[in-house]
Amino acid sequence: PTLNAAELERTFIAIKPDGVQRGLISEIIGRFERKGYKLVAIKLVIPTKEFAAQHYDDLKARPFFNSLCNFLSSGPVVAMVWEGQGVIKYGRKLIGATNPQASEPGTIRGDLCVQVSRNIIHGSDGPETAVAEIGLWFKPEELVNYTHNAEKWLY
Ligand code: ADP
Ligand code: MG
Repeated sequence: PTLNAAELERTFIAIKPDGVQRGLISEIIGRFERKGYKLVAIKLVIPTKEFAAQHYDDLKARPFFNSLCNFLSSGPVVAMVWEGQGVIKYGRKLIGATNPQASEPGTIRGDLCVQVSRNIIHGSDGPETAVAEIGLWFKPEELVNYTHNAEKWLY
């Protein structure tokens, strides 16, 4: 089946400072890449605390909000946009449950981390959040248009 425009979706994925410091960038990118998703944007950034608070705005009432924002702004983050059929939902599946103690083996969090406040990766949780987060982290011109040769074998 061919890829039609309605099935083509994008999600925002970020490797948090702990994932970067632990040398897990290639491991994480590799899992999305091998699955068959297409990388359309990537950059290494140290977010400000204010920016982190914007990113996690929906969690501002939670007791861990302040430490979460301090943590996300504590070092380099790999910010990415990945594209492909079902990438928002399946990306979350690749990532695993929020608490690594509950993440299944085989998932990124299940295989690679232990604690909820050090769970190494972020992924958008739905279509609206994906659009909002991509818009927050990237300028439109940072999303790269190209033919991904694997696509004709995937779809
Ligand atoms: P997810 O990242 O799986 O979408 P949430 O959006 O609920 O999870 O929370 C955002 C991030 O906040 C989590 O990835 C985790 O790093 C942190 N977090 C969530 N719950 C807790 C908690 N109880 N204590 C500390 N940090 C938490
Ligand atoms: Mg979330």
